[in-house]
Formats: sequence, structure tokens, C-alpha cells
Amino acid sequence: MILILAPDTNAKDPIFRTLTNQLDLLPNIQYRVHEVQGSLQRLTEIYLIGDTAKLLTEEMENMPLVERVVRISDEYRVLGRHKDDKRASEFQYNGVTFSQDNLNIFAGLCAVDSPPHVELMMQALQKNGQVCTRMGAYKPRTSPYSFQGHGKSCLPWVFDLAGKYGIKVIAMEITHDSHIDEISEALEKTGQPTGVMLQIGTRNTQNFELLKTVGRQKVFPILLKRGFGITLEESLNAAEYLASEGNSHVIFALRGMKTNMGDPHRNFVDFSHVPSIKRLTRMPVCIDPSHSVGTRAASPDGIMDLCHVTAQGVIAGANMVLVDFHPVPSQALVDGPQALLLEELPYFLEDIAIAREAYEKRVKLIGDYQKS
Ligand code: PEP
Ligand code: MN
Repeated sequence: MILILAPDTNAKDPIFRTLTNQLDLLPNIQYRVHEVQGSLQRLTEIYLIGDTAKLLTEEMENMPLVERVVRISDEYRVLGRHKDDKRASEFQYNGVTFSQDNLNIFAGLCAVDSPPHVELMMQALQKNGQVCTRMGAYKPRTSPYSFQGHGKSCLPWVFDLAGKYGIKVIAMEITHDSHIDEISEALEKTGQPTGVMLQIGTRNTQNFELLKTVGRQKVFPILLKRGFGITLEESLNAAEYLASEGNSHVIFALRGMKTNMGDPHRNFVDFSHVPSIKRLTRMPVCIDPSHSVGTRAASPDGIMDLCHVTAQGVIAGANMVLVDFHPVPSQALVDGPQALLLEELPYFLEDIAIAREAYEKRVKLIGDYQKS
């Protein structure tokens, strides 16, 4: 059960103490206070755990400061979409809005390699009106002999360049909790020229200790990749680990599933699950066509599979696209064969805009149909 308190409730207020005193008296009930800072107000939610079935909704609604009571199913307590649960799915970070109703594109390098390549990428993004990107500094690799990413040494110049080209959010994978401190220190040293979204890769979806540490910090939003060999329920529970530790600014990314049935793609594309995740949870949903498809192969209509699946995800309501680009794919240190070219960026953005417009028309169509 969730108690939603009056907006801008202050935990130091004596009435808040009256409320917690009453909660302390409830038998077999533990509670946890969550504060969510929205763009206009601070929302306080109290999660009651334990013998909540015996609690009467009306009685709880009469407690001081309580504005609304939401009964929740056991699953996905914080991030789930519950019956009569009208809490917003939206959050802002460094001037960019993330929600289940809009779309952000994160085109960039799979792995940071050289300053000229990063600069060319960011120049192209700025030229095309983009304020988000992806830049991998810490790369989890299948082989210990493969390039592992430049790590913390590249952070200062990557952040400086981001500031120079107006980049507001960089999706950057971390594979160890020490990377959060390294990123925070580099941002501090360079004067906070940009923002970072911490990415948890598919190999770490169930790294519970990492999830707990990342969930405990509230500075950076989090992009969680679906685990490539576990059930959707297990991956959504991984997202809930982040939120249960306090950070509910979580975006859930589909990146394809590991199975030979995915042939001819690197992974079996799972973008048909975009609407399912929006139904089950309030998280914005990201699609990663690059790691799903893994090649630049095109069909006889001339359109690359990578662009086809992007359009399929966007027409189903995806809220973010994470995609690999590279100025010279043959020189990329990681995943060159799946990278789009900088000169393809305007085409790619236009193709997405077509799919997004079609999605918006579909939403309007069902709305009109239901009213008629
Ligand atoms: C990536 O986005 O660079 C990446 C390694 O993705 P995934 O964790 O989905 O394989
Ligand atoms: Mn990659």
C-alpha cells in the first residue's frame, strides 16, 4: 500500500511526526518514506509493507497529510502501474524531460576512442539539434583481450567536448560502483558541463549489489538494459531494485534477447514489448536497435534492418532510442559493423520522425474511436 501525502510535505513538520507515530502503532507493518522531486513540487510517498490487507483504505485516507491511498500488487511496488494509480511517469534531468509520452534520441559512440572522433560525433549532433548522446567509457567485453574502454582517463575531455557542443545528457555504462565516483569527480573538475545517465548493461541486469548502490544515489538517472537471457519479470524486478533503494528515475531499455532464433540478427528483437512495459510499469521505454540487430544489412526496399526495427519500436510508442554512430566505423574499437555514419544522422532522425508521427496518429485514432 502506498500513502501519497500532500504535495511539498516537510518531514520536519510536527504533523508528519504525528503521522509516523500513528504508523508506528500499526501491527506487523513496516514503512519506508520516498521523496520524489518533480518539476513543480516535491511528492512524498510512504510505502507500507507487511500485513497491509487488514488496513482499511478509508481509515488510512483519514490519517494526517494523507491525500490518496493506492493499493498495490506485490510486484514492482515503486515503478509498477497499479489500479487507480495516476502518478506521473515523467521526470526531468538537466533540462531534458523523460516520460512515457515523449521521445529522446541518444545517438553516439558505442565506445569512446579518440578526441577527434568524439568531437566529430558531437558536432554532428549539435548540427542536427540533438542534446543527448551515448558514450561508452567502461566497456564490458566478452573477451578479456578486447579493448575494455578508456575508463576514467577519457572522462574530462569527453565532458568538456559535450559542454562545447551543448550536450545535456550522456548515456554512459558503468560496470562497477567506483565508476559513479569517477564520473562525479570528473564532472566536478570540469565544472558540470553536461549531465550523465548511468547505464547498467545487459550483463549486469541482475548484479544486485551494483543495482543497490546505483539506486541509492539520486544525482543521476538510470538506464537499465533488459537482461538478454532472463525473463521480462526478472528484468523488471531489477529495475525495482533501483527504485526500492530510492532512485525511481529509471528508463528501461530493450536490446534484444540472446537466442539463435534471433538469426539473422545479433539478438532476437523484442521491441513488440514496448507497450507491455508501459502497461506494467510507469517507466519510459528505450529501444537499442544497434545491439539488437548488430549489422548494417538492408532489405530489398533499401532500408537497413536497424532502421526498420527502430521504426517498429517508435511506432509502438518507444520513448528513447539508444543507437551507435561512428565517423569512421572501420576504425571503431567496439561494434564498428553496426554503426551508422554521421552523414546518415539526418536521414535516421527523419525516419524516426515519420514513425513517431504515425504513433501519435494511432493514439489519436483510438481516442476518437473510443469516444464515438
Ligand atoms: C552498450 O550499449 O554499449 C552495450 C554494451 O549494451 P548491452 O549491455 O545491451 O549489450
Ligand atoms: Mn556496443
